[in-house]
Amino acid sequence: MGKRILVTGGAGFIGSHLCKKLLEQKNQVICVDNFFTGRKENVAALMGNPHFQLVRHDVTEPFYMEADQIYNLACPASPIHYQHDPIKTTKTSVLGALHMLGLAKEHQARILQASTSEVYGDPKVHPQTEDYYGNVNPIGLRACYDEGKRAAETLFFNYYRQHQADIRVLRIFNVYGPNMCLNDGRVVSNFIVQALGNQDITVYGDGMQTRSFCFVKDLVEGMAAVMDCEGENMQGPFNIGNPAEISMLSLAEKIIEMTGASSKIVYKELPADDPVKRKPDIRKIKDAVGWEPKVGLEQGLEETIWYFKREFF
Ligand code: NAD
Ligand code: UDP
Repeated sequence: MGKRILVTGGAGFIGSHLCKKLLEQKNQVICVDNFFTGRKENVAALMGNPHFQLVRHDVTEPFYMEADQIYNLACPASPIHYQHDPIKTTKTSVLGALHMLGLAKEHQARILQASTSEVYGDPKVHPQTEDYYGNVNPIGLRACYDEGKRAAETLFFNYYRQHQADIRVLRIFNVYGPNMCLNDGRVVSNFIVQALGNQDITVYGDGMQTRSFCFVKDLVEGMAAVMDCEGENMQGPFNIGNPAEISMLSLAEKIIEMTGASSKIVYKELPADDPVKRKPDIRKIKDAVGWEPKVGLEQGLEETIWYFKREFF
């Protein structure tokens, strides 16, 4: 039998793909989730596997279970969801990290934090390298998430220095793919759902802001590669994402073309503190474990469009 692995936030979008992959590698997986944004449907196909266990638990409360590895993903990731209860979002990041680090220390488990490109805020360095400290508004609407994730990184590195915890920190850039929530407001799911319904495509601002989108299957490969690497200096932080950068207007046009929709593009107000551009420099993770994304945007979008069509249209 493989390892005993805890995945917090395992019923969410990324977590569900990660649980599936870890089970395929013959591990025992314990998925811990409070179902705030996660769904049982995301892990329904795994429920019959005797090596999979689903536990309803909120990571703001302590949790006790033996594990060899912990992937800490619990935290709402879309701006609509994390701004719904901003105090709870910060608690989830900070207390969740604290509780899982305590567990890792107790059982000498290796622990990986799903951090985010949002630690760079609205970046003044482009593409973003790991040594950039970022440009975050500490009192803005996104701060509950950004500062929560920054504090979690601080805790991870303090546990590493103070208690020699075996940590891995990954800064994840925008991810997309099957199992994204239908209506959590993230751009890829929004545009696809609008296009499949032949509704207006809502571009915020002038649509010239950029993001770099990584397909979820590439992402979970990279997460597991970093977790399983025994090398020295594997604490990170490592950027993980696809450096192919695209403007939101071009993304809207691409999705209209790929779906054959009759949708029109309409412009809406840009949300506060919306980063102007974002693109990861991924040399560090490539040098460490040889990971780089393989799935291009069109191929990943095709699979994602197919998923939304099958599930909801
Ligand atoms: P998601 O919202 O689909 O998944 C988050 C999961 O955490 C959900 O299942 C939710 O129910 C669970 N959760 C939330 N609060 C919890 C709590 N207090 N206790 C227990 N479970 C809780 O989001 P996702 O896109 O799958 O993101 C997963 C992780 O990756 C998050 O930590 C997010 O910050 C990080 N991340 C995601 C992206 C992205 O583009 N999707 C980018 C950067 C970082
Ligand atoms: N966006 C948009 N239309 C939408 C949803 C989002 O133009 O219907 C824009 C949003 O303003 C941002 C980008 O798409 O500039 C990515 O937004 P998302 O919420 O997916 O991720 P994040 O801003 O956290 O990177």
